[in-house]
Amino acid sequence: MKTLLHLVTLIALATGTLFAAEAKVKAGPRKGLILDLDGKQAEFFVEKDRTISIAVYDPAMKPQAATTEVITATAEAPSGKAKIEFEKKGDLLVSKTKLPEGEGYQVVLQAKSTPEAKTKNFRIKLELHTCKECGNPEYACTCDE
Ligand SMILES: [Zn+2]
Repeated sequence: MKTLLHLVTLIALATGTLFAAEAKVKAGPRKGLILDLDGKQAEFFVEKDRTISIAVYDPAMKPQAATTEVITATAEAPSGKAKIEFEKKGDLLVSKTKLPEGEGYQVVLQAKSTPEAKTKNFRIKLELHTCKECGNPEYACTCDE
């Protein structure tokens, strides 16, 4: 009986984690990962050349030009941590350098909507293959599992 109770608790825990993950992952129009920046939405997207581009949307997902957003990233690659800086390119923020080789490592994105705002940290696992089910890159996969 004790074992059974234990099992039930485990299942409840697992389900809770699942729901949390499901509510969290949102993909944008470019199939990138949507990050909440104090109401505004920033879309993290890895280009084919491994640069990162960030698009900004208002709360209703209307595209906006990146203006006051301040974003830096740290790629925790097996070859060592690499700091990545961004610059404005048209309406987007684009990384000045490419992501280090490989994947499966964490990218920590530090973002704030204005220079005065509090910095938010987003940890993104860099998985670049396309998910067959939702068609998004794996880092922006919106599937349940
Ligand atoms: Zn998926």
